[in-house]
Amino acid sequence: MMNYVIVGASAAGLACAEQIRKEDKDGRIILLTKEEYLPYSRPSISYYLKGKVTEKDMLLRKPSYYKQTGIEIVTGAEVTAIDRKKKTVRAGRKSYHYDKLCLCTGSKPFVPPMKNTQSKENALTFLDLACTKALKKKANKDTRAVVIGAGLIGMKAAEGLSKICKSVDVAELSERVLPSILDAKSSKSVKKFIETEGHITFHLGDTVTEAKSKGGKITSVVLKSGKELPCDLLVLAVGVRPETSLAEKAGLEVNRGIIIDPGTMRTSDSDIYAAGDCAVSVDMLDGSKKIIALWVNAVRQGKAAGSQMAGGEGATGGTFAVNAIDFYGMRICTCGLINAAGDKYSDRVIQSGESYKRLIFEGNRLVGFVLINSSENAGIYTNLIENKTDVTTLSGDILGTPSLMWFDKETRKSRLKGESA
Ligand SMILES: Cc1cc2nc3c(=O)[nH]c(=O)nc-3n(C[C@H](O)[C@H](O)[C@H](O)COP(=O)(O)OP(=O)(O)OC[C@H]3O[C@@H](n4cnc5c(N)ncnc54)[C@H](O)[C@@H]3O)c2cc1C
Repeated sequence: MMNYVIVGASAAGLACAEQIRKEDKDGRIILLTKEEYLPYSRPSISYYLKGKVTEKDMLLRKPSYYKQTGIEIVTGAEVTAIDRKKKTVRAGRKSYHYDKLCLCTGSKPFVPPMKNTQSKENALTFLDLACTKALKKKANKDTRAVVIGAGLIGMKAAEGLSKICKSVDVAELSERVLPSILDAKSSKSVKKFIETEGHITFHLGDTVTEAKSKGGKITSVVLKSGKELPCDLLVLAVGVRPETSLAEKAGLEVNRGIIIDPGTMRTSDSDIYAAGDCAVSVDMLDGSKKIIALWVNAVRQGKAAGSQMAGGEGATGGTFAVNAIDFYGMRICTCGLINAAGDKYSDRVIQSGESYKRLIFEGNRLVGFVLINSSENAGIYTNLIENKTDVTTLSGDILGTPSLMWFDKETRKSRLKGESA
Protein backbone atom coordinates (compact mmCIF):
# COMPACT_ATOMS: atom_id res chain seq x y z
CA MET A 1 0.00 0.00 0.00
CA MET A 2 1.32 3.43 -0.93
CA ASN A 3 1.75 6.19 1.64
CA TYR A 4 0.94 9.63 0.30
CA VAL A 5 1.65 12.75 2.35
CA ILE A 6 0.52 16.24 1.34
CA VAL A 7 1.68 19.40 3.10
CA GLY A 8 -0.90 22.21 2.94
CA ALA A 9 -4.64 21.62 2.73
CA SER A 10 -6.06 24.36 0.57
CA ALA A 11 -6.84 24.53 -3.17
CA ALA A 12 -3.83 22.51 -4.37
CA GLY A 13 -3.53 20.14 -1.39
CA LEU A 14 -7.17 19.10 -1.36
CA ALA A 15 -7.29 18.68 -5.14
CA CYS A 16 -4.17 16.53 -4.93
CA ALA A 17 -5.63 14.29 -2.20
CA GLU A 18 -8.90 13.86 -4.08
CA GLN A 19 -7.18 12.94 -7.31
CA ILE A 20 -5.01 10.37 -5.55
CA ARG A 21 -8.12 8.82 -4.04
CA LYS A 22 -9.75 8.64 -7.49
CA GLU A 23 -6.79 6.77 -8.92
CA ASP A 24 -5.73 4.73 -5.88
CA LYS A 25 -8.61 3.41 -3.79
CA ASP A 26 -6.40 1.80 -1.13
CA GLY A 27 -3.41 4.06 -0.56
CA ARG A 28 -3.03 5.95 2.72
CA ILE A 29 -3.47 9.69 2.21
CA ILE A 30 -2.38 12.11 4.93
CA LEU A 31 -3.15 15.79 4.49
CA LEU A 32 -1.25 18.02 6.92
CA THR A 33 -2.14 21.65 7.52
CA LYS A 34 -0.71 24.09 10.00
CA GLU A 35 -4.03 25.95 10.09
CA GLU A 36 -6.58 25.08 12.76
CA TYR A 37 -9.37 24.80 10.18
CA LEU A 38 -10.55 22.23 7.70
CA PRO A 39 -9.96 23.31 4.07
CA TYR A 40 -11.91 26.48 3.27
CA SER A 41 -12.25 28.91 0.41
CA ARG A 42 -9.44 31.40 0.85
CA PRO A 43 -10.89 33.96 -1.60
CA SER A 44 -14.00 34.03 0.62
CA ILE A 45 -12.22 35.52 3.63
CA SER A 46 -13.30 38.99 2.52
CA TYR A 47 -16.94 37.84 2.51
CA TYR A 48 -16.40 36.49 6.02
CA LEU A 49 -14.86 39.82 7.03
CA LYS A 50 -17.93 41.75 5.90
CA GLY A 51 -20.28 39.18 7.44
CA LYS A 52 -21.71 37.84 4.17
CA VAL A 53 -20.72 34.22 4.86
CA THR A 54 -20.16 32.14 7.98
CA GLU A 55 -17.18 29.94 8.71
CA LYS A 56 -19.31 26.91 7.87
CA ASP A 57 -20.26 28.35 4.46
CA MET A 58 -16.58 28.66 3.60
CA LEU A 59 -15.72 24.99 4.06
CA LEU A 60 -14.74 23.31 0.79
CA ARG A 61 -16.06 19.93 2.00
CA LYS A 62 -18.29 18.81 4.86
CA PRO A 63 -16.33 17.65 7.93
CA SER A 64 -17.64 14.07 7.46
CA TYR A 65 -16.23 13.94 3.91
CA TYR A 66 -12.66 13.20 4.96
CA LYS A 67 -13.59 10.08 6.91
CA GLN A 68 -15.89 8.90 4.14
CA THR A 69 -13.16 9.21 1.52
CA GLY A 70 -10.34 7.94 3.71
CA ILE A 71 -8.36 11.16 3.55
CA GLU A 72 -6.68 11.59 6.94
CA ILE A 73 -6.56 15.29 7.62
CA VAL A 74 -4.48 16.66 10.48
CA THR A 75 -5.04 20.31 11.44
CA GLY A 76 -2.59 22.33 13.54
CA ALA A 77 0.23 20.26 12.03
CA GLU A 78 3.05 22.47 10.81
CA VAL A 79 5.64 20.48 8.92
CA THR A 80 9.06 21.72 9.93
CA ALA A 81 11.39 19.28 8.20
CA ILE A 82 11.61 16.72 5.43
CA ASP A 83 14.07 13.86 5.73
CA ARG A 84 14.56 12.81 2.12
CA LYS A 85 16.72 9.81 3.01
CA LYS A 86 14.28 8.29 5.48
CA LYS A 87 11.33 9.65 3.47
CA THR A 88 9.61 11.22 6.44
CA VAL A 89 8.21 14.63 7.31
CA ARG A 90 8.12 16.02 10.82
CA ALA A 91 5.18 17.93 12.32
CA GLY A 92 5.51 18.65 16.03
CA ARG A 93 6.47 15.42 17.73
CA LYS A 94 5.08 13.28 14.96
CA SER A 95 6.84 11.88 11.97
CA TYR A 96 4.99 10.70 8.84
CA HIS A 97 6.46 8.29 6.35
CA TYR A 98 5.83 8.93 2.65
CA ASP A 99 6.37 7.08 -0.58
CA LYS A 100 5.20 10.15 -2.47
CA LEU A 101 5.09 13.64 -1.00
CA CYS A 102 3.45 16.78 -2.36
CA LEU A 103 4.24 20.30 -1.16
CA CYS A 104 1.20 22.57 -1.44
CA THR A 105 2.42 25.22 0.98
CA GLY A 106 0.96 28.19 -0.91
CA SER A 107 1.96 31.79 -0.29
CA LYS A 108 3.14 33.89 2.59
CA PRO A 109 2.61 37.63 2.90
CA PHE A 110 5.40 39.85 1.67
CA VAL A 111 5.94 42.78 4.01
CA PRO A 112 8.50 45.33 2.76
CA PRO A 113 10.49 47.19 5.37
CA MET A 114 8.55 50.14 6.71
CA LYS A 115 9.62 52.12 9.71
CA ASN A 116 7.79 51.33 12.94
CA THR A 117 5.20 48.82 11.65
CA GLN A 118 6.71 45.63 13.11
CA SER A 119 5.01 43.99 16.08
CA LYS A 120 2.28 46.58 16.34
CA GLU A 121 -0.99 45.15 17.60
CA ASN A 122 -3.06 47.00 14.98
CA ALA A 123 -0.89 46.10 11.96
CA LEU A 124 -2.19 42.88 10.38
CA THR A 125 -1.89 40.85 7.21
CA PHE A 126 -4.86 39.43 5.29
CA LEU A 127 -4.21 35.99 3.93
CA ASP A 128 -6.03 33.37 5.95
CA LEU A 129 -8.98 32.81 8.21
CA ALA A 130 -7.02 33.33 11.43
CA CYS A 131 -5.83 36.82 10.44
CA THR A 132 -9.30 37.67 9.12
CA LYS A 133 -10.77 36.82 12.52
CA ALA A 134 -8.18 39.08 14.18
CA LEU A 135 -9.02 41.87 11.72
CA LYS A 136 -12.75 41.48 12.30
CA LYS A 137 -12.24 41.80 16.04
CA LYS A 138 -10.41 45.10 15.65
CA ALA A 139 -12.58 46.77 13.00
CA ASN A 140 -15.65 48.79 13.97
CA LYS A 141 -17.66 51.81 12.83
CA ASP A 142 -15.13 54.25 14.28
CA THR A 143 -12.10 52.62 12.69
CA ARG A 144 -10.00 54.51 10.16
CA ALA A 145 -8.34 51.75 8.20
CA VAL A 146 -5.35 52.01 5.87
CA VAL A 147 -4.60 49.20 3.45
CA ILE A 148 -1.18 49.00 1.81
CA GLY A 149 -1.49 47.39 -1.62
CA ALA A 150 -4.20 47.52 -4.30
CA GLY A 151 -3.65 44.00 -5.61
CA LEU A 152 -6.22 41.23 -5.33
CA ILE A 153 -5.71 40.76 -1.59
CA GLY A 154 -5.48 44.44 -0.63
CA MET A 155 -8.56 45.31 -2.66
CA LYS A 156 -10.53 42.46 -1.12
CA ALA A 157 -9.46 43.59 2.36
CA ALA A 158 -10.50 47.16 1.51
CA GLU A 159 -13.89 46.02 0.22
CA GLY A 160 -14.56 43.99 3.37
CA LEU A 161 -13.44 46.79 5.67
CA SER A 162 -15.44 49.43 3.81
CA LYS A 163 -18.62 47.73 5.04
CA ILE A 164 -17.51 48.06 8.65
CA CYS A 165 -15.13 50.99 9.08
CA LYS A 166 -15.51 54.75 9.21
CA SER A 167 -12.99 55.20 6.39
CA VAL A 168 -10.70 53.12 4.23
CA ASP A 169 -7.61 54.49 2.48
CA VAL A 170 -5.59 52.35 0.08
CA ALA A 171 -1.97 53.21 -0.76
CA GLU A 172 -0.47 51.53 -3.82
CA LEU A 173 2.97 52.05 -5.31
CA SER A 174 1.78 51.26 -8.82
CA GLU A 175 -0.21 53.87 -10.77
CA ARG A 176 -3.20 51.55 -11.01
CA VAL A 177 -5.41 49.21 -9.03
CA LEU A 178 -5.34 45.42 -9.49
CA PRO A 179 -2.27 45.64 -11.74
CA SER A 180 -1.87 41.87 -12.06
CA ILE A 181 -5.40 41.16 -13.26
CA LEU A 182 -6.42 44.35 -15.07
CA ASP A 183 -4.96 46.30 -17.96
CA ALA A 184 -4.43 50.06 -17.64
CA LYS A 185 -7.74 51.00 -19.31
CA SER A 186 -10.04 48.74 -17.33
CA SER A 187 -8.19 49.44 -14.12
CA LYS A 188 -9.21 53.11 -14.35
CA SER A 189 -12.92 52.37 -14.63
CA VAL A 190 -12.79 49.75 -11.87
CA LYS A 191 -11.07 52.24 -9.58
CA LYS A 192 -13.75 54.85 -10.25
CA PHE A 193 -16.53 52.36 -9.59
CA ILE A 194 -14.98 51.21 -6.31
CA GLU A 195 -14.38 54.78 -5.14
CA THR A 196 -18.06 55.55 -5.64
CA GLU A 197 -19.52 52.28 -4.35
CA GLY A 198 -17.13 51.67 -1.48
CA HIS A 199 -16.16 55.23 -0.50
CA ILE A 200 -12.57 54.10 -0.60
CA THR A 201 -9.82 56.70 -1.06
CA PHE A 202 -6.91 55.65 -3.24
CA HIS A 203 -3.35 56.98 -3.08
CA LEU A 204 -1.80 55.59 -6.25
CA GLY A 205 1.89 55.91 -7.06
CA ASP A 206 2.38 56.28 -3.33
CA THR A 207 3.06 54.04 -0.36
CA VAL A 208 3.51 54.02 3.37
CA THR A 209 7.06 54.73 4.43
CA GLU A 210 6.61 54.97 8.15
CA ALA A 211 4.08 54.60 10.94
CA LYS A 212 3.69 56.74 14.01
CA SER A 213 2.66 54.96 17.16
CA LYS A 214 1.77 55.35 20.80
CA GLY A 215 1.94 52.56 23.38
CA GLY A 216 2.54 49.76 20.84
CA LYS A 217 -0.31 50.92 18.60
CA ILE A 218 -0.08 52.68 15.27
CA THR A 219 -1.88 56.02 15.28
CA SER A 220 -1.03 57.34 11.81
CA VAL A 221 0.99 56.49 8.71
CA VAL A 222 3.19 58.72 6.59
CA LEU A 223 3.18 58.24 2.82
CA LYS A 224 6.10 58.66 0.43
CA SER A 225 4.42 61.84 -0.86
CA GLY A 226 4.57 63.28 2.64
CA LYS A 227 0.82 62.93 3.28
CA GLU A 228 -0.08 61.71 6.78
CA LEU A 229 -3.18 59.56 7.28
CA PRO A 230 -4.78 58.86 10.66
CA CYS A 231 -4.78 55.09 11.16
CA ASP A 232 -6.46 52.84 13.71
CA LEU A 233 -5.92 49.66 11.69
CA LEU A 234 -3.17 48.98 9.16
CA VAL A 235 -3.53 46.10 6.71
CA LEU A 236 -0.28 44.97 5.11
CA ALA A 237 -1.29 43.56 1.75
CA VAL A 238 1.59 44.52 -0.51
CA GLY A 239 1.86 41.11 -2.02
CA VAL A 240 2.62 37.46 -1.51
CA ARG A 241 5.65 35.29 -2.05
CA PRO A 242 5.72 31.52 -2.50
CA GLU A 243 6.14 29.65 0.81
CA THR A 244 9.27 27.67 -0.02
CA SER A 245 11.11 27.49 3.29
CA LEU A 246 10.44 23.78 3.80
CA ALA A 247 11.55 22.92 0.26
CA GLU A 248 14.69 25.04 0.57
CA LYS A 249 15.62 23.44 3.88
CA ALA A 250 15.22 20.02 2.29
CA GLY A 251 17.62 21.01 -0.51
CA LEU A 252 15.05 21.00 -3.33
CA GLU A 253 15.62 23.30 -6.28
CA VAL A 254 13.98 26.65 -5.58
CA ASN A 255 14.14 29.86 -7.58
CA ARG A 256 11.50 32.27 -6.24
CA GLY A 257 9.14 29.27 -6.14
CA ILE A 258 9.70 25.52 -6.03
CA ILE A 259 10.96 24.36 -9.43
CA ILE A 260 8.78 21.65 -10.93
CA ASP A 261 8.55 19.81 -14.18
CA PRO A 262 5.49 21.45 -15.80
CA GLY A 263 4.19 18.12 -17.06
CA THR A 264 4.54 15.92 -13.99
CA MET A 265 4.72 18.50 -11.16
CA ARG A 266 7.83 16.68 -9.91
CA THR A 267 10.45 18.68 -8.03
CA SER A 268 14.18 17.99 -8.22
CA ASP A 269 13.48 14.91 -6.03
CA SER A 270 11.52 12.33 -8.03
CA ASP A 271 9.35 11.34 -5.04
CA ILE A 272 8.44 14.90 -4.11
CA TYR A 273 5.93 16.98 -6.06
CA ALA A 274 4.74 20.57 -5.65
CA ALA A 275 1.61 22.39 -6.76
CA GLY A 276 -0.15 25.74 -6.45
CA ASP A 277 1.13 29.13 -5.31
CA CYS A 278 4.40 27.69 -3.96
CA ALA A 279 5.54 26.37 -7.34
CA VAL A 280 6.92 28.00 -10.49
CA SER A 281 4.55 27.56 -13.45
CA VAL A 282 5.36 27.73 -17.12
CA ASP A 283 2.73 29.88 -18.82
CA MET A 284 1.64 27.88 -21.85
CA LEU A 285 0.75 31.09 -23.71
CA ASP A 286 4.22 32.63 -23.87
CA GLY A 287 6.46 30.03 -22.27
CA SER A 288 7.46 32.35 -19.43
CA LYS A 289 8.20 30.98 -15.98
CA LYS A 290 6.12 32.67 -13.33
CA ILE A 291 4.19 32.26 -10.13
CA ILE A 292 0.50 32.17 -11.01
CA ALA A 293 -1.04 32.73 -7.58
CA LEU A 294 -4.63 31.94 -8.52
CA TRP A 295 -7.12 29.39 -7.24
CA VAL A 296 -7.91 27.60 -10.53
CA ASN A 297 -4.23 27.15 -11.27
CA ALA A 298 -3.64 25.65 -7.82
CA VAL A 299 -6.51 23.17 -8.29
CA ARG A 300 -5.31 22.12 -11.75
CA GLN A 301 -1.76 21.59 -10.56
CA GLY A 302 -2.90 19.77 -7.43
CA LYS A 303 -4.96 17.37 -9.55
CA ALA A 304 -2.09 16.76 -11.95
CA ALA A 305 0.33 16.12 -9.08
CA GLY A 306 -2.14 13.74 -7.42
CA SER A 307 -2.56 11.75 -10.59
CA GLN A 308 1.18 11.48 -11.17
CA MET A 309 1.80 10.46 -7.56
CA ALA A 310 -0.73 7.64 -7.90
CA GLY A 311 0.97 6.42 -11.07
CA GLY A 312 -1.47 8.06 -13.48
CA GLU A 313 -0.80 10.43 -16.32
CA GLY A 314 -2.98 13.40 -15.38
CA ALA A 315 -1.65 16.78 -16.49
CA THR A 316 -2.74 20.36 -16.11
CA GLY A 317 -3.62 20.67 -19.78
CA GLY A 318 -1.42 23.77 -19.84
CA THR A 319 -1.15 26.51 -17.29
CA PHE A 320 -2.27 30.10 -17.71
CA ALA A 321 -3.85 32.73 -15.49
CA VAL A 322 -7.64 32.58 -15.09
CA ASN A 323 -9.50 34.68 -12.56
CA ALA A 324 -13.08 35.63 -11.75
CA ILE A 325 -13.80 38.07 -8.99
CA ASP A 326 -16.34 40.68 -8.03
CA PHE A 327 -16.24 44.00 -6.25
CA TYR A 328 -19.50 45.50 -5.00
CA GLY A 329 -21.35 43.44 -7.60
CA MET A 330 -19.06 44.39 -10.49
CA ARG A 331 -18.01 41.10 -12.13
CA ILE A 332 -14.45 40.93 -13.41
CA CYS A 333 -13.22 37.98 -15.36
CA THR A 334 -9.68 37.93 -16.75
CA CYS A 335 -7.57 35.34 -18.45
CA GLY A 336 -4.22 34.88 -20.15
CA LEU A 337 -1.77 37.55 -21.25
CA ILE A 338 -3.68 40.67 -20.27
CA ASN A 339 -0.59 42.86 -20.05
CA ALA A 340 1.08 41.54 -23.21
CA ALA A 341 3.10 44.24 -24.95
CA GLY A 342 4.92 44.32 -28.25
CA ASP A 343 4.26 44.26 -31.99
CA LYS A 344 3.13 40.67 -32.14
CA TYR A 345 0.09 41.39 -29.97
CA SER A 346 -3.05 43.31 -30.88
CA ASP A 347 -6.32 43.92 -29.09
CA ARG A 348 -9.95 44.74 -29.70
CA VAL A 349 -12.15 46.53 -27.20
CA ILE A 350 -15.84 47.22 -26.70
CA GLN A 351 -16.86 49.50 -23.87
CA SER A 352 -20.37 50.56 -23.06
CA GLY A 353 -21.54 51.96 -19.74
CA GLU A 354 -20.17 49.75 -17.00
CA SER A 355 -19.34 46.83 -19.24
CA TYR A 356 -15.98 46.37 -20.89
CA LYS A 357 -14.67 43.65 -23.11
CA ARG A 358 -11.08 43.48 -24.30
CA LEU A 359 -9.68 40.59 -26.30
CA ILE A 360 -5.93 40.24 -26.79
CA PHE A 361 -4.56 38.40 -29.83
CA GLU A 362 -1.23 37.05 -30.93
CA GLY A 363 -1.65 36.83 -34.68
CA ASN A 364 -4.84 34.83 -35.26
CA ARG A 365 -4.87 33.36 -31.79
CA LEU A 366 -6.74 34.67 -28.76
CA VAL A 367 -4.26 34.85 -25.86
CA GLY A 368 -6.11 36.86 -23.24
CA PHE A 369 -9.25 38.72 -22.23
CA VAL A 370 -10.60 41.18 -19.70
CA LEU A 371 -14.37 41.04 -19.24
CA ILE A 372 -16.11 43.44 -16.90
CA ASN A 373 -19.82 42.90 -16.39
CA SER A 374 -19.74 40.89 -19.60
CA SER A 375 -18.46 37.49 -18.54
CA GLU A 376 -21.24 35.40 -20.16
CA ASN A 377 -18.89 33.96 -22.77
CA ALA A 378 -15.82 33.57 -20.59
CA GLY A 379 -15.98 29.77 -20.95
CA ILE A 380 -15.90 29.90 -24.75
CA TYR A 381 -13.07 32.43 -24.79
CA THR A 382 -11.06 30.37 -22.27
CA ASN A 383 -11.54 27.34 -24.45
CA LEU A 384 -10.28 29.20 -27.53
CA ILE A 385 -7.19 30.27 -25.60
CA GLU A 386 -6.53 26.82 -24.16
CA ASN A 387 -6.90 25.11 -27.51
CA LYS A 388 -4.89 27.76 -29.39
CA THR A 389 -7.71 27.98 -31.93
CA ASP A 390 -7.11 29.97 -35.10
CA VAL A 391 -9.95 32.48 -34.75
CA THR A 392 -10.12 33.04 -38.51
CA THR A 393 -11.61 29.53 -38.74
CA LEU A 394 -14.68 30.69 -36.78
CA SER A 395 -17.74 31.71 -38.72
CA GLY A 396 -18.58 34.85 -36.71
CA ASP A 397 -16.94 37.82 -35.00
CA ILE A 398 -15.79 36.69 -31.60
CA LEU A 399 -15.85 40.19 -30.14
CA GLY A 400 -19.64 40.10 -30.34
CA THR A 401 -21.45 37.21 -28.73
CA PRO A 402 -19.65 34.03 -29.64
CA SER A 403 -21.84 31.05 -30.19
CA LEU A 404 -21.01 27.39 -30.05
CA MET A 405 -22.60 27.08 -33.47
CA TRP A 406 -19.68 28.99 -34.99
CA PHE A 407 -17.42 26.03 -34.41
CA ASP A 408 -17.30 23.09 -36.78
CA LYS A 409 -18.99 19.90 -35.64
CA GLU A 410 -15.80 18.12 -34.61
CA THR A 411 -14.60 21.05 -32.54
CA ARG A 412 -17.92 21.30 -30.77
CA LYS A 413 -17.72 17.64 -29.94
CA SER A 414 -14.12 17.32 -28.91
CA ARG A 415 -13.20 20.68 -27.50
CA LEU A 416 -16.26 22.26 -25.99
CA LYS A 417 -16.72 19.60 -23.39
CA GLY A 418 -20.24 18.82 -22.37
CA GLU A 419 -21.79 20.19 -25.56
CA SER A 420 -23.21 17.78 -28.05
CA ALA A 421 -22.62 18.53 -31.66
C1 LIG B 1 -8.14 37.63 0.13
C2 LIG B 1 -7.79 36.76 -1.01
C3 LIG B 1 -8.55 36.82 -2.17
C4 LIG B 1 -8.24 36.02 -3.24
N1 LIG B 1 -9.04 36.09 -4.32
C5 LIG B 1 -8.80 35.28 -5.36
C6 LIG B 1 -9.66 35.27 -6.48
O1 LIG B 1 -10.63 36.00 -6.54
N2 LIG B 1 -9.38 34.43 -7.51
C7 LIG B 1 -8.30 33.60 -7.50
O2 LIG B 1 -8.10 32.85 -8.45
N3 LIG B 1 -7.46 33.59 -6.43
C8 LIG B 1 -7.67 34.40 -5.38
N4 LIG B 1 -6.84 34.37 -4.31
C9 LIG B 1 -5.64 33.52 -4.38
C10 LIG B 1 -5.97 32.06 -4.05
O3 LIG B 1 -6.61 32.01 -2.82
C11 LIG B 1 -4.68 31.25 -4.07
O4 LIG B 1 -4.14 31.28 -5.36
C12 LIG B 1 -4.93 29.81 -3.64
O5 LIG B 1 -5.45 29.76 -2.34
C13 LIG B 1 -3.64 29.01 -3.71
O6 LIG B 1 -3.86 27.73 -3.22
P1 LIG B 1 -2.67 26.85 -2.64
O7 LIG B 1 -3.29 25.57 -2.22
O8 LIG B 1 -1.55 26.83 -3.59
O9 LIG B 1 -2.10 27.65 -1.38
P2 LIG B 1 -2.80 28.32 -0.12
O10 LIG B 1 -4.24 28.56 -0.35
O11 LIG B 1 -1.93 29.48 0.25
O12 LIG B 1 -2.66 27.21 1.01
C14 LIG B 1 -1.45 26.74 1.50
C15 LIG B 1 -1.71 26.06 2.82
O13 LIG B 1 -0.54 25.41 3.26
C16 LIG B 1 -0.37 25.64 4.64
N5 LIG B 1 1.06 25.48 4.95
C17 LIG B 1 2.09 26.25 4.54
N6 LIG B 1 3.25 25.77 5.02
C18 LIG B 1 2.94 24.69 5.77
C19 LIG B 1 3.72 23.77 6.55
N7 LIG B 1 5.03 23.88 6.65
N8 LIG B 1 3.08 22.79 7.21
C20 LIG B 1 1.72 22.65 7.11
N9 LIG B 1 0.93 23.49 6.41
C21 LIG B 1 1.54 24.49 5.74
C22 LIG B 1 -0.86 27.08 4.81
O14 LIG B 1 -1.15 27.36 6.14
C23 LIG B 1 -2.09 27.03 3.93
O15 LIG B 1 -3.21 26.55 4.62
C24 LIG B 1 -7.12 35.15 -3.19
C25 LIG B 1 -6.36 35.07 -2.04
C26 LIG B 1 -6.69 35.86 -0.96
C27 LIG B 1 -5.86 35.76 0.29
